[in-house]
Amino acid sequence: MEYEGQICRPPMERSSFMLAVSVGCNYNRCKFCTLFKHLKYRLLPLEQVENELRRVSELGANPKQIFLGDGNAFGMETPRLLYILDKISYYFPNCQMINMDATVTDISDKTDEELRQLRRAGVRRLYLGIESGLDDVLTFMQKDHGIEDAYRQISRIQEAGLIYNAHFMTGIAGAGRGLENAEKLAEFFNYTHPQKVVNFSLFLHKSAPLYEDILAGKFVPADEVENLREDRRLLELLDTNPLLYDGFHDELKLRVWGSLPKDREKMLQKLDSAIEKYNDVGIKRYFAP
Ligand code: SF4
Repeated sequence: MEYEGQICRPPMERSSFMLAVSVGCNYNRCKFCTLFKHLKYRLLPLEQVENELRRVSELGANPKQIFLGDGNAFGMETPRLLYILDKISYYFPNCQMINMDATVTDISDKTDEELRQLRRAGVRRLYLGIESGLDDVLTFMQKDHGIEDAYRQISRIQEAGLIYNAHFMTGIAGAGRGLENAEKLAEFFNYTHPQKVVNFSLFLHKSAPLYEDILAGKFVPADEVENLREDRRLLELLDTNPLLYDGFHDELKLRVWGSLPKDREKMLQKLDSAIEKYNDVGIKRYFAP
């Protein structure tokens, strides 16, 4: 199958069979995001989705885990999603879980009964871009949710038996607010108990709407040392166990990952070494085209 746009899936889904069911993101307004800005969101024809399932099945594949792409597959109407889940179970009866990205709004648009139906039809893990624990930051970045909405909707999916995993971004609160964001995020994760959290530390793109705010002086990016300190503070405070943690500081080519609480000390030491190293040399922030 030809894939449109960038292949985008959480690191824990790297071995899943990626089944495209839509193109682009149905929201597409987060200021920092460049993933799908050049694409107009559309659902792929059901016939095309089924042809892909048939093709892969005829090749002899037997995936245990399937990831539905692209951005926010959970946002499609429930009957359509159930139709696709039914086709998956027909072609791949041994598939154990079907996972996808979702937004907080996608969840609030579904009834409790729809959430339970989707769970029964094979959906297991939802990946939510929580990004920040601070309401004013979520508003500034034009996320589609506030923090109270996130608490409410996560509780609904958990009651339906679904697993929630979170993405967030160190640096998203801007210069001088890293520790404040870490503390609010820790409070949020300690209450909502994600199974996995992934930090995609804020990467600066000239093509992102946020760049205009930086030029206009409305947003001052934190430097990478502050982002490392933010990551460190969060790791210190997380006490939802067990928790898989994966942190990417792409600008520094640094990854900090492990299972909490077992690997906490090792991860903190890695961050301490990086803070010491970059504190001395300093890092000029880079803007990708
Ligand atoms: S961050 Fe997620 S919800 Fe926001 S525009 Fe990008 S893909 Fe869409």
